[in-house]
Amino acid sequence: MISQIPRLVRKLVRLVIPKPVLDGLERLRATQPIAERRCPVCNFSGYFGLAGFPPRIDALCPTCGSLERHRLFWLWFSDNKSLQSPVLHFAAEKMLSDRLQGCFEEYSTADLHADADLQLNIEDIKLRSESQGSVICNHVLEHVDDQKALSELYRILVTGGSLVVTVPLVEGWDSTYENDNITDPALRVLHFGQSDHLRMYGADFRERVRSVGFMIEEEYVGRGPQVVDYGLTRGERIFICRKLG
Ligand SMILES: [Zn+2]
Repeated sequence: MISQIPRLVRKLVRLVIPKPVLDGLERLRATQPIAERRCPVCNFSGYFGLAGFPPRIDALCPTCGSLERHRLFWLWFSDNKSLQSPVLHFAAEKMLSDRLQGCFEEYSTADLHADADLQLNIEDIKLRSESQGSVICNHVLEHVDDQKALSELYRILVTGGSLVVTVPLVEGWDSTYENDNITDPALRVLHFGQSDHLRMYGADFRERVRSVGFMIEEEYVGRGPQVVDYGLTRGERIFICRKLG
């Protein structure tokens, strides 16, 4: 009889509480964290929060604000501190820039807004050619004219310099999806993930990078248990692109 009690309680709850309310509670339950994770950026261990639209579970570190891509970057960086100075970081994420500042002889953040160290337009970078050792560029190219931006990034790097780049990418698509006819912001979210995304990249992202002269030297992907431990996006990649001159 005792073993029947939970089932009876559930039956009673279903009788007393209206179905729409129960459905709402069920949806709320589905947004709760699945498991405790670790943040390699700030060393937090515990439950991550929701981020994005539609919301991703176990995405946001409550301490430093890192998302999946920032944790992937930090895992890569922790093993590869060989980036050449000066380092230029476009649209720098604060939790990364705070920590990267002290790692290099010369490190600058760059953006259109005045808070950045250097106010720069990535499509028309007012810097000397061959003046930067490395550029970090996380989730920027999908917002801009990427051919102009990639050409400019190639131009400002010294020979042997590196571009470390991430973009939203659907590996199963051969070609990048762009559609200028979709102008309604809500529809752009539906098609491209964000209203200000100009495209959703396919596997041909690599050709776009190579077309301006870069060689893709390494593609770093979070693997197996790492994805679970650190709350990474399965299959997300960091492209390390070299200017060979
Ligand atoms: Zn963190």
